[in-house]
Amino acid sequence: MSVDCKTIFNADEQKQLVRAIADAEQNTSGEIRIHLEDYCDGEPYHRGLEVFHSLKMHQTALKNGVLIYIAVQDRKLAILGDKGINDIVPPHYWEEILQALKASFKRDQFLAGIEQAVHEIGQKLKIHFPYQKHDIDELTNEISIGKVS
Ligand code: CA
Ligand code: CA
Repeated sequence: MSVDCKTIFNADEQKQLVRAIADAEQNTSGEIRIHLEDYCDGEPYHRGLEVFHSLKMHQTALKNGVLIYIAVQDRKLAILGDKGINDIVPPHYWEEILQALKASFKRDQFLAGIEQAVHEIGQKLKIHFPYQKHDIDELTNEISIGKVS
């Protein structure tokens, strides 16, 4: 079955993902977002970086935003962290989570795969960026869908 970025998740499923992000952010000051679009020319990591900036994800106080970037029709995925994370974690910190997410997509387990990835990103963020009292939700948990510049 072919899916695109607008039909891959219905309203309930989107809510489920938003809830997964909110749950993950209960453990960390880090901010997780999901962006879905259909196509990605070239490397998903590079496109993900553009999206990261378009969504103003570099504007968190601790520079600890993490983006799950997904080009649905092209089945290209990337996980990108901001500078505050990249400066202190080893390279390929997200690789295992990314590989698991890709495997889920190969099995068409989109919702469960992303939920699991969000959960695990939260666990990994927590190590370096524990939840802080009076935490602010700096970046919306809503999923970003479609073209951004
Ligand atoms: Ca927060
Ligand atoms: Ca958030």
